[in-house]
Amino acid sequence: MTSSALQTAVTEIAEEMAAREDRGDVASYIPELGRIDPRQFAISVVTRDGEIACGGDCDTAFSIQSISKVFTLTLALGIAGDRVWNRVGREPSGSPFNSIVQLEREKGIPRNPFINAGAIAVTDLVLAGHQPREAIGEILRFMQFLADDDAIFIDRNVALSENATGFNNRALANFMKGFGVLENEVEHVLGVYFHHCAIAMTCRQLALAGRFLAHNGVRPETGYSVVTPERARRINAIMLTCGHYDGSGEFAYRVGLPGKSGVGGGILAIVPGKASVCVWSPGLDVTGNSHLGRIALELLTSRLGWTVFGPG
Ligand code: GLU
Repeated sequence: MTSSALQTAVTEIAEEMAAREDRGDVASYIPELGRIDPRQFAISVVTRDGEIACGGDCDTAFSIQSISKVFTLTLALGIAGDRVWNRVGREPSGSPFNSIVQLEREKGIPRNPFINAGAIAVTDLVLAGHQPREAIGEILRFMQFLADDDAIFIDRNVALSENATGFNNRALANFMKGFGVLENEVEHVLGVYFHHCAIAMTCRQLALAGRFLAHNGVRPETGYSVVTPERARRINAIMLTCGHYDGSGEFAYRVGLPGKSGVGGGILAIVPGKASVCVWSPGLDVTGNSHLGRIALELLTSRLGWTVFGPG
């Protein structure tokens, strides 16, 4: 595909999304996110050879929320290796992102690292005896390194807003602590968790940060290996099966790519061997995933034949 063909597809999709009235509802359970204008849309695609195609508001920073869970999982695997899987499973949950029901059945072990309970358990591993401030800095620097951009920041107001209203997350964390799944103090783990969810990034920055997952663990522009090819493949597998809460099956069916969404309305999607893609539209569907973001990705993958299940 020529570079102009990709940019044309991206521009057309952004125009099509801008014209739509159905946008879903912004997440309001975190008050700071409830203030976001739902009439925003962005898409960025970064290909293997470094071409960046952008449409819409792709330089507007938004709250990455659960997309951070991909990157904290990557860090935790680097710290603890396969011991991560003693603390968290790898199965789709079939439950909402903040569900506690499954934890009771499975002795405090969350089903996967991308639901809230699982991400809190992963955050505990990243914290690993450090001061919360150090762990937060580590995660932020990892994002800056991957996107090659020191301007990436944590939105303090979002972190404070989550902390003030994080009753469900406190319940999940205390429940896991009761089962001995968390090693660190609950408030320390949650402090780190709320801050990594509150990282603000643009679509362009997130697509850049996802490159290593599209290219066997390597940042293609430098040849720098972030993780082994096997680890990149496995993170992609978990994104495909668990990246959209109980909407993961629908996302695989419609888009056909590993992807991770966040309640800020972003979705990071990986086209193995080809590209890293980020879309953002703050309105969510009933499963808590970006409504227009998913539709835009479906258009992109069907137009370009970019799915992991074949080009048809
Ligand atoms: N920080 C959010 C929470 O814990 C993340 C939710 C999400 O993006 O799924 O509720």
